[in-house]
Amino acid sequence: MQTITSIRLLRNALSPLRNAGRSIGLVPTMGYLHEGHARLVSTAREQNDVVVVSIFVNPLQFGPNEDFAQYPRDLHHDEQMLTALGCDFIFAPSVNEMYPEPAVTVVDLPEMGQVLCGRTRPIHFRGVATVVSKLLHIVQPDKAYFGQKDGQQLAIILRMVQDLNLPLAIVGVPTVRESDGLAKSSRNIFLSVQDRPHATVLYRALQVARDDIEAGQRFAAEVMAHMAALISAEPTVRLDYAEAVDARTLQPLSVLSGTVMLAVAAYVGKTRLIDNIVLPLPPIDSPDIP
Ligand code: AMP
Repeated sequence: MQTITSIRLLRNALSPLRNAGRSIGLVPTMGYLHEGHARLVSTAREQNDVVVVSIFVNPLQFGPNEDFAQYPRDLHHDEQMLTALGCDFIFAPSVNEMYPEPAVTVVDLPEMGQVLCGRTRPIHFRGVATVVSKLLHIVQPDKAYFGQKDGQQLAIILRMVQDLNLPLAIVGVPTVRESDGLAKSSRNIFLSVQDRPHATVLYRALQVARDDIEAGQRFAAEVMAHMAALISAEPTVRLDYAEAVDARTLQPLSVLSGTVMLAVAAYVGKTRLIDNIVLPLPPIDSPDIP
């Protein structure tokens, strides 16, 4: 495995492999890798000849009062983990390598980027779509891998690739969780010992909502209110949102049908956590609806 920090050197390394017909899989990350990332990398390893993992904490996707400076970083640990997973190349550029000048060209999907997390993080998804677009142009992979954990991000990347006719497949990978249900996240290390047990309320709320829906509830407002009440009642937890949206377009639903994403975000202590589940429901005019 090689760690490469220069765009030119990465292209020089990949182009003979691509020309020889080797398939390339890309896993974009911000590093500080955990088992969630590992699931993406092992899926990419199974499906491609060459695996590239990018590690880049992208300043463009952090708001002025967000945790860009504090975001955890540990390249040495990441290199050890990725060697064990059979990764071929780590692409770990500096901010200056990715943005030698401030980005004038950006990729923005406001209808999908201003909802859910976009309400508290208004520039986040423009930063994500822009950097992912750059990474896709730099690496030119056959497939790129994203976690369902960041469901809004996955939906936005799928739509960007569709709208811009980018020549690759996006692969969504299921969320990896701790044994108590908490979705694995690099930010979980910020949870205090006191707050940690309360962090499970996000997944518990999603499970309760799923139970409501399985019992026949189809009114989004009822499901959302139930999730919000559970999260708000949890000590040391402050609700950001609890919503039921169309999983593909991220637009709100009043009656739940088709592929639905239940998505929640909350501050646990000072740490903002997100989680979601996707439920395939019968279409609205189906006789299966109770
Ligand atoms: P990040 O380093 O947080 O930007 O995440 C890089 C990629 O790993 C994104 O596609 C995430 O959705 C994915 N990811 C992060 N946590 C998990 C998890 N618990 N399960 C599955 N994928 C994850």
